[in-house]
Amino acid sequence: QDRFEAPDFYQIDDLLTEEHKLIRDAVRTFVKKEISPIIEDYAQRAEFPQDIVKKFGEIGAFGPTIPSEYGGGGLDYISYGLIMQEIERGDSGMRSTVSVQSSLVMYPIYAFGTEEQKQKYLPKLASGEMLGCFGLTEADYGSNPSGMQSHFTDEGDHYLLNGSKMWISNAPYADIAVVWAKNENGRVRGLIVERGMEGFSTPEIHNKWSLRASTTGELVFDNVKVPKENLLPGIEGLRGPMQCLDSARYGIAWGALGAAMDCYDSAKRYALERIQFDKPIASFQLTQKKLAEMLTEITKAQLLCWRLGMLKNEDKATTAQISLAKRNNVEMALNIAREARQIHGGMGITGEYPIMRHMMNLESVVTYEGTHDIHLLILGNEITGIPAFK
Ligand code: FAD
Repeated sequence: QDRFEAPDFYQIDDLLTEEHKLIRDAVRTFVKKEISPIIEDYAQRAEFPQDIVKKFGEIGAFGPTIPSEYGGGGLDYISYGLIMQEIERGDSGMRSTVSVQSSLVMYPIYAFGTEEQKQKYLPKLASGEMLGCFGLTEADYGSNPSGMQSHFTDEGDHYLLNGSKMWISNAPYADIAVVWAKNENGRVRGLIVERGMEGFSTPEIHNKWSLRASTTGELVFDNVKVPKENLLPGIEGLRGPMQCLDSARYGIAWGALGAAMDCYDSAKRYALERIQFDKPIASFQLTQKKLAEMLTEITKAQLLCWRLGMLKNEDKATTAQISLAKRNNVEMALNIAREARQIHGGMGITGEYPIMRHMMNLESVVTYEGTHDIHLLILGNEITGIPAFK
């Protein structure tokens, strides 16, 4: 891990500013020091390294694009992407923790919240003093969140929330949850639910083979009294959660690149060192084909991310463009992890190398935040004007 070399075959560094490179290098150093040495053990034990939350806060990984007056970094989207890339080079579960906090908790509070909500939550979320989670998916409504059953009623001086959410990253350790539920008119609204509110619990989901170092749980609301000031006033309908997901999916496109780079780097080094038939396995054409194709796919994905980041900076990136990048890059990373696993032979299945962990992690990444096939159908809709998923 210490010897990690990022592939940069098309001199993409030349497209980055000095600030981008400084941020990228600082996060790379952080990952080498704080994540790579511990992550395999935590993943094997299926344990969340809770201390990392404060450390992420200290390096400014939470809310990098949120203005500094609320504790955020005030950075552009290329910086945000590079941070995600570097953290996922360490582990997709760690990147998930950061994505959720930044794009799915801080972003909706910043974009749709009141000034009081922003002042109350954003600085603490930015510093890692508070951890948040995002509740959209329900057990019976994954790809189709519009069918959600969680709902709340207006009880005069408060709302009464009932229902449950499933597969929620960070839930077991979260201090607050941004929850999407229907009001009496069937309209989806966002509510900030705080740990400690009566009737609110966050049971952990166990036995995962993927994202083992990230915690996942349910959110259960049993007549939870939510103060009226905890409603996000600035958005109504599924547009709210979808805008958050656009931001998170953009980060995932970069994050997957980090996981792919780590697998490629490890495979390249192993291929040059491992001797079979008296030669490094890197001298066989079939190994070279695997490495050449990995580098090609990584390079294409890097260019995609950079261009998408520039569009995000100009506020021009569309949902379909983000779908294309998330879908392409996660599949690319998964394929590279599988090929890298082959190059490592038997060693590839052990925790001596990061490959199998990345591969198993990416099986969640390809499903969450819109499955691989749903993103394909979003593109199909964009091309034809016909929504095939409804
Ligand atoms: P389903 O929707 O049941 O899909 C099953 C299969 O059917 C998929 O292959 C899908 O592509 C396919 N399918 C469904 N509909 C169609 C269609 N119309 N046409 C073609 N194929 C279709 N959610 C949150 O809200 N917050 C979180 O923090 C969060 N974290 C997660 C963490 C992990 C580790 C995981 C695994 C999931 C997380 N999720 C979270 C939930 C995630 O977003 C959902 O799992 C995802 O949206 C898919 O929903 P589902 O699992 O119910 O699958």
